[in-house]
Amino acid sequence: MKISSSPFVFNTTPSIVFEAGAATRLGAISVSRLGRRVLLVTDPGLRKLGLADPAIKSLEEAGAKVTLFDEVEADPSRETLERAVEAGRRAQATGVVGFGGGSSLDVAKLASLLLGSNEDLDEAWGVGQAKGPRLPLVLVPTTAGTGSEVTPVSIITVGAEEKRGVSSPVILPDIAILDARLTLGLPPAITAATGVDAMVHAIEAYASKSANNNPLSKMLARQALQLLGANIETAVFDGGNEEARGAMLLGSMLAGQAFANSPVAAVHALAYPIGGTFHVPHGLSNALVLPHVLRFNAPDAAHLYAEIARDAFPHLDEGEGAQALCSAFIEELAALSRRLEMPTRLREVGIGEEHLPKLASEAMKQQRLLVNNPRDVREEDAAAIYRAAW
Ligand SMILES: [Zn+2]
Repeated sequence: MKISSSPFVFNTTPSIVFEAGAATRLGAISVSRLGRRVLLVTDPGLRKLGLADPAIKSLEEAGAKVTLFDEVEADPSRETLERAVEAGRRAQATGVVGFGGGSSLDVAKLASLLLGSNEDLDEAWGVGQAKGPRLPLVLVPTTAGTGSEVTPVSIITVGAEEKRGVSSPVILPDIAILDARLTLGLPPAITAATGVDAMVHAIEAYASKSANNNPLSKMLARQALQLLGANIETAVFDGGNEEARGAMLLGSMLAGQAFANSPVAAVHALAYPIGGTFHVPHGLSNALVLPHVLRFNAPDAAHLYAEIARDAFPHLDEGEGAQALCSAFIEELAALSRRLEMPTRLREVGIGEEHLPKLASEAMKQQRLLVNNPRDVREEDAAAIYRAAW
């Protein structure tokens, strides 16, 4: 077999525990790494549900004193992060646990960095700027989608609505704990949106034009699509199905490993302005533009989409050639959103036609993502894609 000799770097979380019920053993699994004074970062909703209680109890049984910070909101602010750091300082935390959705994990990542290094946050924004060291860090996701437990990225809202990111391997955690039982109660709409987001991570990582696209990311993206494609409908319509939930959690992590090293592109670039301006959840924003961006990309990426089409949808006929397989793949993705009962048009989520030009100009600001797209996207292209999605 001939291998590509293109250079690449691949970073991921060094220790991954995949086990239903693992969160109830959080202390036994991680106290030797975290030390005796643990800052646990979560959100008020999970706190109220008591979802973190067994994990906290197990940390205490393992001899740790737990300081709970449960104030993380959706799109977490810099002030929230600073309060989490302050709580950790007061407690002289020796380690940090992030427990929750992407927002709690993002706050935990940067709290561990700022507590461990006293770094100035304003010098850590951007790619490769954060130096560390950070405090020991364990992440426990309670949704299946972001893959945040294996990505080196944290996004924080600064001021009214500016999103800033820190991207550095320093904030990859020491341990990711994937416990499907934590996701059993997620409502269908969230399961659908986050699940489609994970599929987008895999698709965009696979087709990414990034110079760092690599054989590991490609392999992981394909395995992710197999798991996500086969299980998303069961997870949405039979949420208590632990096996399907486990497959979604694993699939979203594999997709996270893929795109952490072979970054996403125009689907995300066009989704961000929808989320930012109209507060549409991230996964749904992606789903709304997904088929339209892929149709736009098809002239340059049909062979790539054809390669992964049958991973997500094994019933598709490979005998028909790359073009036909690519088209069938895109139609299957559109049909999947409908079957999952997600809105499929921008007008259904409160976006008026008059907003489309603004969305297109906002999308152009996402050049860090657009450079990874298999086909060049100009502003008029973005406008046409939004129009098709409207
Ligand atoms: Zn995403």
